[in-house]
Amino acid sequence: MQYHTPDSFEDAVAIANAATGTTRFLAGGTDVLVQLRADIVTPDDLIDIKHIAGTHDITHNADGSWTIGVAVTGAEMSEHPTLKNDWPGLVEAMDLVGSTQIQGRATLVGNLCNGSPAADSVPAMIAINASIDITNATDTGTATRQVAAADIHTGPGKTSLTKGDVISAVNIPAVQPNSGDAYLRFIPRTEMDIAVVGVAVNLTLEGDTITAAKVVLGAVAPSYVTVTDAANALIGSTLDEAALDALATAASAACNPIDDKRGTIEFRTQVSGVLAKRAAVIAYARAKGANT
Ligand SMILES: Cc1cc2nc3c(=O)[nH]c(=O)nc-3n(C[C@H](O)[C@H](O)[C@H](O)COP(=O)(O)OP(=O)(O)OC[C@H]3O[C@@H](n4cnc5c(N)ncnc54)[C@H](O)[C@@H]3O)c2cc1C
Repeated sequence: MQYHTPDSFEDAVAIANAATGTTRFLAGGTDVLVQLRADIVTPDDLIDIKHIAGTHDITHNADGSWTIGVAVTGAEMSEHPTLKNDWPGLVEAMDLVGSTQIQGRATLVGNLCNGSPAADSVPAMIAINASIDITNATDTGTATRQVAAADIHTGPGKTSLTKGDVISAVNIPAVQPNSGDAYLRFIPRTEMDIAVVGVAVNLTLEGDTITAAKVVLGAVAPSYVTVTDAANALIGSTLDEAALDALATAASAACNPIDDKRGTIEFRTQVSGVLAKRAAVIAYARAKGANT
């Protein structure tokens, strides 16, 4: 195995494109190293992106948007003084990943690119319309394109990334006034388990009325599900009981889960509705200014 430490994305791209065997990028390594030690995947080329300038930075841009470096850990996101004020749902989703030790290593990008349909931060990223910078070679050098976070994961263990693609940043939009996001998951024990259901909600209010909403489910289908009917159940309401019931019905109807020892199809389907309601209540309170 060749271990590479490029100091630019251009070099990382060149190494990835020249590689002929199995390639992995090393961010926190909490998926890659576990798979390596378990003999599930042994990369021929392991490209450590943490030596590239800017990869450890969380930047609040002049227009209110955020740029999160690809080596920024969950702990660094949680400890950031203002990121959580803008996007508490995103930060709490990443904060659920693993233990304190895992938090010190795990990244948003690794969570996304590992390809699990149950990754905690992915519904949260999709709900807030995060986008991903992908750098690769072109005929004239390297170029970076922006892709919605929703378009990266394509199925269990699969992403839309192609040879040489290196994610070079995560872009988080500016938070809109009177908006709130939230993420909840169900796991069979109190911590250190994979989501049986994950639900992210992001909504915006005008007065007490919801004017925009996005509801995203994880772990209940081969990929993440953005549930338009669930968002429509919220829009125009003041989050009354009828809207919450319609939201739960739509979330449950969008599920296409597996049936295993950690949760039956019936259980996952019902819990999706329950968690969607609870996440919407939290997001609504945050949009009203609550510091929950
Ligand atoms: C004990 C334990 C508990 C866990 N608990 C949870 C949990 O509760 N919830 C959860 O969602 N996950 C959990 N995980 C899984 C893991 O911690 C997360 O998926 C984590 O976010 C992965 O991030 P990383 O930086 O460690 O990724 P890495 O292991 O470094 O990389 C993961 C994948 O991303 C790719 N990659 C990394 N960087 C880039 C890049 N810049 N461009 C393109 N591809 C890239 C790699 O090639 C690899 O395929 C757990 C893991 C362990 C070991």
